[in-house]
Amino acid sequence: MAKILVIEDNAVNMTLISAVLGINGHVVLGARLALDGIALACSEAPDLILMDIELPGMDGLEATAILKGAGATAHIPVVALTAFAMKGDEARFRAAGCDEYMAKPYDYVELLALVEMILGRPSADGRAADG
Ligand code: MN
Repeated sequence: MAKILVIEDNAVNMTLISAVLGINGHVVLGARLALDGIALACSEAPDLILMDIELPGMDGLEATAILKGAGATAHIPVVALTAFAMKGDEARFRAAGCDEYMAKPYDYVELLALVEMILGRPSADGRAADG
């Protein structure tokens, strides 16, 4: 079981992602805005962040760059969720610090598999992220 922060402004997507993760035993925290998500990342220290790129106000890339630039949150893996997986976008996401990305519309089986794969990676101190 892991603590996963979902930053997503679309209520339907948020509900579906939360359901898929919750059914699979994870604790889900949600934020609709980047700034709220950053605050939650700092206070809750989630194991993983799913970051919608298209957010009102501050977008997901800027939020990711802030999280990756802050000592307390830099180690948290970020998966970019985007409607715009076009040529060149992966490089933009990686430059902002995103560890992985997934294009909409989501395949929830694939999304869950990606989440479990990232959570199973050894973290910097040698423990699995969900251990
Ligand atoms: Mn959005």
